[in-house]
Amino acid sequence: MDVLSVGGTVSVNAHGLDFRAGSLSSTIRSLRVMTADGVVHRVSPDVEPELFEAVVGGYGLFGVVLDVELELVDSEMYRLRSRTIEHRDLPEVFAAQVAGDDAVRLTYTHLSTAPGSLLQEAIVYTYERTGTDEEVPPLRERASDRTSRLVFNLARTGDLGQRVKWGAQKHVLPRVRGCLESRNEALREMEACMVARNQAMYESLGFLRNRLPQYTDVLHEYFLPHEQIVPFLDELRAQLGEHDAQLLSASIRSVHREDVVLDYAQGERFSVVLYLSQEVSEAGNEDMASLTRALVASSLELGGTFYLPYQQHYTREQVAQAYPRLEEFVATKRRYDPGLRFQNSFWVRYGPQPEERP
Ligand SMILES: Cc1cc2nc3c(=O)[nH]c(=O)nc-3n(C[C@H](O)[C@H](O)[C@H](O)COP(=O)(O)OP(=O)(O)OC[C@H]3O[C@@H](n4cnc5c(N)ncnc54)[C@H](O)[C@@H]3O)c2cc1C
Repeated sequence: MDVLSVGGTVSVNAHGLDFRAGSLSSTIRSLRVMTADGVVHRVSPDVEPELFEAVVGGYGLFGVVLDVELELVDSEMYRLRSRTIEHRDLPEVFAAQVAGDDAVRLTYTHLSTAPGSLLQEAIVYTYERTGTDEEVPPLRERASDRTSRLVFNLARTGDLGQRVKWGAQKHVLPRVRGCLESRNEALREMEACMVARNQAMYESLGFLRNRLPQYTDVLHEYFLPHEQIVPFLDELRAQLGEHDAQLLSASIRSVHREDVVLDYAQGERFSVVLYLSQEVSEAGNEDMASLTRALVASSLELGGTFYLPYQQHYTREQVAQAYPRLEEFVATKRRYDPGLRFQNSFWVRYGPQPEERP
């Protein structure tokens, strides 16, 4: 189940494990977009930059993205390493052992969702160049996907399941990962887990399938200055204690400022991705709305922002605070689409209201 389209991914300016490249926008050479008047523009950071910076991360409000030319890099073999740390050490570990180590090319961090260590213990994964000439195998379905699905779904079964899940993430998953044995003698002796870059970035979303119809899963994402990650996680832990929503998974990645109008990063940021489960009911919706608004308020207070693709429980004031170029976004929209041909719920809720329109 791979459900994300090229046009949708460009229109949210998606990001992933490559903290050095940053989000998708920095790897787009050019794209073609058909605007409301039927004209096809080929835009790039140098050609019609105003339209380019609005379309990328622009939620489809400027036209239809037809195709995209991306900057590509070769796949290469990495050694996968994991370290279990305390959450408060994350900024230091990231600076010294991740960003500060040029061999590290990809990274992400899993936070504990188990009672006892909730959001206080973390596993930092790094994918490192080894300097050896390892052969890159073709992309394959991972044998470990089934185990990952099983481990992930343990989180749905309550406290005991959460404890077993965190234990498995620390101790079992490292052993069943689809590692390849190195051809290099020294690396083989270290029992190095070798993974191709393409393989590391390939994620089938099938393991997220939820078979319980009375519950649904909801994503959140917040972007925090590095020095504010610990207070944010502490506030998140407190908020979870006051809400019914269950945290199934929490992870951290890293992004930086991009030249797009609705830039969510605006600087070096840790991104906190939450995968939550809520009851399908009025009460479940209300609980999720209140949790979202509280977490958005906390991230804004700490100088952070939040990601826009997910449920729209945040307020207009919160969007305006997180995205200081929102007015420019609206002005560019009016210039390219004066008849408002392209609309969506983001525009209707957070764009100018009827009484504010000229
Ligand atoms: C399980 C899951 C995991 C995710 N993981 C990540 C992640 O790791 N990193 C990340 O950054 N995001 C992540 N996301 C968010 C994801 O990138 C966005 O939801 C993205 O929009 C999905 O693409 P889509 O094709 O479903 O777009 P849609 O949801 O269909 O559309 C998103 C927006 O793009 C617009 N759009 C779609 N196609 C076009 C087009 N051709 N031209 C112009 N506008 C268009 C739509 O109007 C809409 O505003 C995840 C989402 C899910 C559900």
